[in-house]
Amino acid sequence: MAVIVVTFFVTTAVVVFGVLAFQILPRLFPKLKTFLPSQAVISYFQLVPISVIFPTLLWLFFSVYLYAHVPEQPYSSLLGWVHIFITNYMMANAVFNYYMTVFTCPGYPQRHDEFTRDRLFVKTYQMCIKCKRVRNAGTHHCSWCHTCVEMMCHHCPFTNNCIGRRNYVYYYTFLTYAFFGLLYACYLAYFPFVNCMSGLVVRKIQETMSFLPQLSALREAGIVRFNMYEDLTVPEGCQFVQEYAVLFAPCVGITCFMGLLFGFQTFLLLADMSIVDFYESLSNATSLQELLRIFHVSIFKRKKFRFKNLVLGKKSHVWMFFVPFPNNVENDLPLKDL
Ligand SMILES: [Zn+2]
Ligand SMILES: [Zn+2]
Repeated sequence: MAVIVVTFFVTTAVVVFGVLAFQILPRLFPKLKTFLPSQAVISYFQLVPISVIFPTLLWLFFSVYLYAHVPEQPYSSLLGWVHIFITNYMMANAVFNYYMTVFTCPGYPQRHDEFTRDRLFVKTYQMCIKCKRVRNAGTHHCSWCHTCVEMMCHHCPFTNNCIGRRNYVYYYTFLTYAFFGLLYACYLAYFPFVNCMSGLVVRKIQETMSFLPQLSALREAGIVRFNMYEDLTVPEGCQFVQEYAVLFAPCVGITCFMGLLFGFQTFLLLADMSIVDFYESLSNATSLQELLRIFHVSIFKRKKFRFKNLVLGKKSHVWMFFVPFPNNVENDLPLKDL
Protein backbone atom coordinates (compact mmCIF):
# COMPACT_ATOMS: atom_id res chain seq x y z
CA MET A 1 0.00 0.00 0.00
CA ALA A 2 2.73 2.41 0.99
CA VAL A 3 4.34 1.73 -2.40
CA ILE A 4 1.37 3.32 -4.16
CA VAL A 5 1.48 6.45 -2.00
CA VAL A 6 5.25 6.78 -2.56
CA THR A 7 4.63 6.36 -6.32
CA PHE A 8 2.03 9.13 -6.10
CA PHE A 9 4.41 11.58 -4.44
CA VAL A 10 7.30 10.68 -6.74
CA THR A 11 4.97 11.24 -9.73
CA THR A 12 3.85 14.61 -8.43
CA ALA A 13 7.48 15.59 -7.88
CA VAL A 14 8.35 14.43 -11.43
CA VAL A 15 5.52 16.61 -12.83
CA VAL A 16 6.57 19.69 -10.86
CA PHE A 17 10.30 19.32 -11.55
CA GLY A 18 9.59 18.28 -15.16
CA VAL A 19 7.67 21.51 -15.67
CA LEU A 20 10.53 23.43 -14.12
CA ALA A 21 13.21 21.69 -16.16
CA PHE A 22 11.43 21.51 -19.54
CA GLN A 23 9.45 24.72 -19.56
CA ILE A 24 10.83 27.34 -17.23
CA LEU A 25 14.61 26.83 -17.36
CA PRO A 26 14.80 27.15 -21.20
CA ARG A 27 13.09 30.54 -20.85
CA LEU A 28 15.70 31.69 -18.39
CA PHE A 29 18.57 30.12 -20.35
CA PRO A 30 17.56 30.08 -24.07
CA LYS A 31 20.64 28.06 -25.08
CA LEU A 32 19.26 25.03 -23.17
CA LYS A 33 16.43 24.78 -25.70
CA THR A 34 18.71 23.24 -28.34
CA PHE A 35 19.34 20.22 -26.06
CA LEU A 36 15.66 19.50 -25.37
CA PRO A 37 13.14 17.54 -27.50
CA SER A 38 10.33 19.40 -29.29
CA GLN A 39 7.32 20.77 -27.46
CA ALA A 40 4.97 18.06 -28.82
CA VAL A 41 7.27 15.33 -27.47
CA ILE A 42 7.42 17.04 -24.07
CA SER A 43 3.58 17.17 -24.03
CA TYR A 44 3.31 13.39 -24.32
CA PHE A 45 6.08 12.85 -21.74
CA GLN A 46 4.21 15.06 -19.33
CA LEU A 47 0.95 13.15 -19.71
CA VAL A 48 2.49 9.91 -18.42
CA PRO A 49 3.15 11.07 -14.83
CA ILE A 50 -0.07 13.11 -14.75
CA SER A 51 -2.04 10.04 -15.88
CA VAL A 52 -0.71 8.15 -12.83
CA ILE A 53 -1.98 10.80 -10.40
CA PHE A 54 -5.71 10.42 -11.20
CA PRO A 55 -5.92 6.59 -10.80
CA THR A 56 -3.87 6.78 -7.56
CA LEU A 57 -6.35 9.27 -6.09
CA LEU A 58 -9.23 6.95 -7.04
CA TRP A 59 -7.41 3.98 -5.51
CA LEU A 60 -6.87 5.91 -2.25
CA PHE A 61 -10.57 6.72 -2.14
CA PHE A 62 -11.86 3.19 -2.84
CA SER A 63 -9.44 1.27 -0.65
CA VAL A 64 -8.87 3.67 2.26
CA TYR A 65 -11.13 6.69 2.68
CA LEU A 66 -14.43 5.09 1.69
CA TYR A 67 -13.94 2.46 4.43
CA ALA A 68 -12.72 5.10 6.89
CA HIS A 69 -16.05 6.91 6.57
CA VAL A 70 -18.35 3.91 6.09
CA PRO A 71 -16.54 0.97 7.79
CA GLU A 72 -19.53 -1.41 7.60
CA GLN A 73 -20.27 -2.50 3.99
CA PRO A 74 -20.02 0.85 2.14
CA TYR A 75 -21.52 -0.66 -1.03
CA SER A 76 -24.82 -1.40 0.67
CA SER A 77 -25.25 1.93 2.44
CA LEU A 78 -26.67 5.20 1.08
CA LEU A 79 -23.82 7.25 2.59
CA GLY A 80 -21.29 5.01 0.85
CA TRP A 81 -22.94 5.59 -2.53
CA VAL A 82 -23.15 9.36 -1.92
CA HIS A 83 -19.35 9.43 -1.37
CA ILE A 84 -18.77 7.20 -4.43
CA PHE A 85 -20.98 9.41 -6.62
CA ILE A 86 -19.42 12.75 -5.55
CA THR A 87 -15.84 11.46 -5.90
CA ASN A 88 -16.39 9.93 -9.34
CA TYR A 89 -18.38 12.92 -10.58
CA MET A 90 -15.68 15.43 -9.59
CA MET A 91 -12.91 13.17 -10.90
CA ALA A 92 -14.62 12.51 -14.27
CA ASN A 93 -15.20 16.22 -14.91
CA ALA A 94 -11.70 17.24 -13.80
CA VAL A 95 -9.96 14.54 -15.89
CA PHE A 96 -12.09 15.23 -18.99
CA ASN A 97 -11.52 18.98 -18.87
CA TYR A 98 -7.80 18.57 -18.14
CA TYR A 99 -7.17 16.39 -21.20
CA MET A 100 -9.39 18.61 -23.38
CA THR A 101 -7.25 21.61 -22.31
CA VAL A 102 -4.13 19.72 -23.36
CA PHE A 103 -5.42 18.43 -26.70
CA THR A 104 -7.61 21.33 -27.91
CA CYS A 105 -5.91 23.81 -30.21
CA PRO A 106 -6.07 27.18 -28.38
CA GLY A 107 -7.11 29.00 -31.60
CA TYR A 108 -4.51 30.37 -34.00
CA PRO A 109 -5.38 33.41 -36.15
CA GLN A 110 -5.28 33.13 -39.96
CA ARG A 111 -1.95 33.50 -41.65
CA HIS A 112 -1.85 36.79 -43.53
CA ASP A 113 -1.63 35.10 -46.98
CA GLU A 114 -4.77 33.01 -46.28
CA PHE A 115 -6.47 36.12 -44.89
CA THR A 116 -5.88 38.21 -48.01
CA ARG A 117 -6.65 35.25 -50.36
CA ASP A 118 -10.08 34.69 -48.72
CA ARG A 119 -11.19 38.31 -49.10
CA LEU A 120 -11.96 40.38 -52.20
CA PHE A 121 -11.47 43.69 -50.44
CA VAL A 122 -8.99 43.80 -47.63
CA LYS A 123 -9.21 46.65 -45.19
CA THR A 124 -6.21 47.56 -43.12
CA TYR A 125 -5.17 44.83 -40.73
CA GLN A 126 -2.33 44.19 -38.34
CA MET A 127 0.09 41.35 -38.78
CA CYS A 128 2.52 39.77 -36.32
CA ILE A 129 6.03 40.20 -37.68
CA LYS A 130 7.23 37.01 -35.94
CA CYS A 131 4.66 34.45 -37.18
CA LYS A 132 2.96 36.42 -40.02
CA ARG A 133 -0.52 35.90 -38.60
CA VAL A 134 -3.33 38.48 -38.51
CA ARG A 135 -3.74 40.15 -35.13
CA ASN A 136 -7.05 41.10 -33.46
CA ALA A 137 -7.65 42.56 -30.04
CA GLY A 138 -6.60 39.99 -27.43
CA THR A 139 -4.22 38.17 -29.81
CA HIS A 140 -0.74 37.68 -28.36
CA HIS A 141 2.38 35.99 -29.63
CA CYS A 142 3.45 33.04 -27.46
CA SER A 143 7.24 32.89 -27.40
CA TRP A 144 7.13 29.23 -26.30
CA CYS A 145 4.74 28.02 -29.05
CA HIS A 146 6.24 30.45 -31.64
CA THR A 147 2.79 31.49 -32.84
CA CYS A 148 0.07 34.02 -32.15
CA VAL A 149 -2.95 32.83 -30.14
CA GLU A 150 -6.43 34.39 -30.26
CA MET A 151 -7.67 35.82 -26.94
CA MET A 152 -4.62 34.34 -25.27
CA CYS A 153 -4.63 34.14 -21.49
CA HIS A 154 -1.23 32.56 -20.87
CA HIS A 155 1.00 29.62 -21.75
CA CYS A 156 0.26 26.92 -19.16
CA PRO A 157 3.34 24.84 -18.20
CA PHE A 158 1.24 22.06 -16.62
CA THR A 159 -0.62 21.37 -19.88
CA ASN A 160 2.23 22.46 -22.16
CA ASN A 161 -0.36 24.33 -24.20
CA CYS A 162 -1.48 27.91 -24.62
CA ILE A 163 -4.79 28.83 -23.03
CA GLY A 164 -6.78 30.80 -25.59
CA ARG A 165 -10.07 31.27 -27.40
CA ARG A 166 -10.94 27.61 -27.97
CA ASN A 167 -9.66 25.85 -24.83
CA TYR A 168 -10.10 28.47 -22.11
CA VAL A 169 -13.50 27.04 -21.13
CA TYR A 170 -11.92 23.60 -20.52
CA TYR A 171 -9.13 25.15 -18.48
CA TYR A 172 -11.49 27.15 -16.26
CA THR A 173 -13.91 24.22 -15.86
CA PHE A 174 -10.96 21.98 -14.90
CA LEU A 175 -9.86 24.48 -12.22
CA THR A 176 -13.42 24.66 -10.86
CA TYR A 177 -13.89 20.88 -10.57
CA ALA A 178 -10.34 20.29 -9.34
CA PHE A 179 -10.68 22.93 -6.61
CA PHE A 180 -14.10 21.81 -5.32
CA GLY A 181 -13.10 18.14 -5.72
CA LEU A 182 -10.00 18.76 -3.60
CA LEU A 183 -12.07 20.62 -0.97
CA TYR A 184 -14.22 17.49 -0.77
CA ALA A 185 -11.05 15.35 -0.52
CA CYS A 186 -9.93 17.55 2.42
CA TYR A 187 -13.27 16.87 4.10
CA LEU A 188 -12.81 13.11 3.55
CA ALA A 189 -9.23 13.25 4.90
CA TYR A 190 -9.94 15.57 7.86
CA PHE A 191 -11.88 13.24 10.18
CA PRO A 192 -9.52 10.26 9.83
CA PHE A 193 -6.62 12.67 10.46
CA VAL A 194 -8.16 14.07 13.66
CA ASN A 195 -9.56 10.77 14.98
CA CYS A 196 -6.88 8.29 13.98
CA MET A 197 -3.59 10.16 14.37
CA SER A 198 -3.60 9.80 18.18
CA GLY A 199 -4.29 6.03 17.88
CA LEU A 200 -1.50 5.78 15.32
CA VAL A 201 0.95 7.49 17.68
CA VAL A 202 -0.06 5.09 20.50
CA ARG A 203 0.58 2.09 18.27
CA LYS A 204 4.00 3.45 17.29
CA ILE A 205 4.87 3.96 20.99
CA GLN A 206 3.76 0.41 21.82
CA GLU A 207 5.79 -0.99 18.93
CA THR A 208 8.83 0.96 20.09
CA MET A 209 8.33 -0.36 23.63
CA SER A 210 8.26 -3.96 22.44
CA PHE A 211 11.65 -3.31 20.83
CA LEU A 212 13.02 -1.90 24.07
CA PRO A 213 12.84 -4.68 26.70
CA GLN A 214 14.25 -2.37 29.37
CA LEU A 215 11.33 0.03 28.89
CA SER A 216 8.80 -2.86 29.04
CA ALA A 217 10.45 -4.08 32.23
CA LEU A 218 10.18 -0.60 33.79
CA ARG A 219 6.52 -0.50 32.79
CA GLU A 220 5.77 -3.92 34.26
CA ALA A 221 7.50 -2.88 37.46
CA GLY A 222 5.16 0.12 37.61
CA ILE A 223 7.99 2.67 37.40
CA VAL A 224 6.87 4.06 34.05
CA ARG A 225 3.15 4.41 33.36
CA PHE A 226 1.48 4.59 29.97
CA ASN A 227 -2.10 4.37 31.21
CA MET A 228 -3.23 7.48 29.36
CA TYR A 229 -2.30 5.76 26.09
CA GLU A 230 -3.52 2.30 27.03
CA ASP A 231 -7.01 3.55 27.90
CA LEU A 232 -7.38 5.33 24.57
CA THR A 233 -10.06 3.83 22.35
CA VAL A 234 -9.37 3.92 18.63
CA PRO A 235 -12.49 4.87 16.62
CA GLU A 236 -14.02 2.42 14.17
CA GLY A 237 -12.64 2.83 10.66
CA CYS A 238 -9.11 3.74 11.78
CA GLN A 239 -7.82 0.25 10.97
CA PHE A 240 -8.39 1.10 7.27
CA VAL A 241 -6.67 4.50 7.43
CA GLN A 242 -3.45 3.69 9.29
CA GLU A 243 -0.51 5.82 8.11
CA TYR A 244 -2.64 7.36 5.34
CA ALA A 245 -4.10 9.72 7.96
CA VAL A 246 -1.13 12.04 7.37
CA LEU A 247 -2.27 12.57 3.74
CA PHE A 248 -4.54 15.33 5.04
CA ALA A 249 -1.52 17.69 5.19
CA PRO A 250 -0.47 17.45 1.49
CA CYS A 251 -4.16 17.49 0.52
CA VAL A 252 -4.55 20.91 2.19
CA GLY A 253 -1.39 22.16 0.44
CA ILE A 254 -2.55 21.08 -3.05
CA THR A 255 -6.05 22.48 -2.39
CA CYS A 256 -4.58 25.89 -1.45
CA PHE A 257 -2.50 25.91 -4.66
CA MET A 258 -5.52 25.00 -6.80
CA GLY A 259 -7.66 27.53 -4.90
CA LEU A 260 -5.16 30.28 -5.74
CA LEU A 261 -5.29 29.41 -9.46
CA PHE A 262 -9.10 29.18 -9.45
CA GLY A 263 -9.48 32.42 -7.47
CA PHE A 264 -7.03 34.27 -9.74
CA GLN A 265 -8.81 33.14 -12.93
CA THR A 266 -12.20 34.08 -11.45
CA PHE A 267 -10.82 37.52 -10.61
CA LEU A 268 -9.46 37.87 -14.19
CA LEU A 269 -12.86 36.91 -15.66
CA LEU A 270 -14.58 39.47 -13.42
CA ALA A 271 -12.03 42.12 -14.44
CA ASP A 272 -12.33 41.05 -18.13
CA MET A 273 -8.55 40.58 -18.36
CA SER A 274 -6.12 37.93 -19.53
CA ILE A 275 -2.93 37.24 -17.59
CA VAL A 276 -1.09 39.25 -20.26
CA ASP A 277 -3.40 42.25 -19.56
CA PHE A 278 -2.89 41.72 -15.83
CA TYR A 279 0.89 41.95 -16.18
CA GLU A 280 0.48 45.05 -18.40
CA SER A 281 -1.63 46.72 -15.68
CA LEU A 282 1.02 45.81 -13.10
CA SER A 283 3.81 47.36 -15.13
CA ASN A 284 1.80 50.46 -16.19
CA ALA A 285 0.50 51.41 -12.73
CA THR A 286 2.74 53.89 -10.95
CA SER A 287 1.33 53.26 -7.47
CA LEU A 288 -0.68 50.67 -5.58
CA GLN A 289 -3.62 53.08 -5.44
CA GLU A 290 -3.66 53.45 -9.20
CA LEU A 291 -3.47 49.67 -9.62
CA LEU A 292 -6.44 49.19 -7.30
CA ARG A 293 -8.34 51.87 -9.24
CA ILE A 294 -7.63 50.04 -12.54
CA PHE A 295 -8.94 46.76 -11.05
CA HIS A 296 -11.97 48.49 -9.54
CA VAL A 297 -12.90 50.10 -12.87
CA SER A 298 -12.27 46.81 -14.73
CA ILE A 299 -14.51 44.80 -12.41
CA PHE A 300 -17.41 47.25 -12.27
CA LYS A 301 -17.33 48.93 -15.70
CA ARG A 302 -16.19 46.36 -18.25
CA LYS A 303 -18.76 44.24 -20.11
CA LYS A 304 -17.32 40.77 -19.29
CA PHE A 305 -16.53 40.14 -22.97
CA ARG A 306 -14.06 37.36 -22.08
CA PHE A 307 -16.51 35.51 -19.81
CA LYS A 308 -19.32 35.69 -22.36
CA ASN A 309 -17.13 34.71 -25.29
CA LEU A 310 -14.64 32.27 -23.76
CA VAL A 311 -16.81 30.48 -21.19
CA LEU A 312 -20.59 30.94 -21.57
CA GLY A 313 -20.59 31.20 -25.35
CA LYS A 314 -18.82 27.87 -25.84
CA LYS A 315 -21.76 25.63 -24.90
CA SER A 316 -25.32 26.01 -26.13
CA HIS A 317 -26.89 24.77 -22.85
CA VAL A 318 -25.91 25.36 -19.24
CA TRP A 319 -26.19 21.64 -18.33
CA MET A 320 -23.17 20.98 -20.58
CA PHE A 321 -20.97 22.55 -17.88
CA PHE A 322 -22.13 19.92 -15.38
CA VAL A 323 -21.19 16.81 -17.35
CA PRO A 324 -18.04 15.97 -19.32
CA PHE A 325 -19.18 17.40 -22.66
CA PRO A 326 -17.15 18.92 -25.51
CA ASN A 327 -17.79 22.48 -26.74
CA ASN A 328 -20.63 22.51 -29.24
CA VAL A 329 -20.41 26.16 -30.33
CA GLU A 330 -17.55 27.01 -32.64
CA ASN A 331 -18.74 30.30 -34.15
CA ASP A 332 -17.61 32.91 -31.69
CA LEU A 333 -18.58 36.48 -31.13
CA PRO A 334 -16.80 38.60 -33.76
CA LEU A 335 -13.29 39.46 -32.61
CA LYS A 336 -12.65 43.16 -32.31
CA ASP A 337 -10.12 44.77 -34.63
CA LEU A 338 -7.15 46.38 -32.99
ZN1 LIG B 1 2.86 36.01 -33.68
ZN1 LIG C 1 2.15 28.85 -25.82
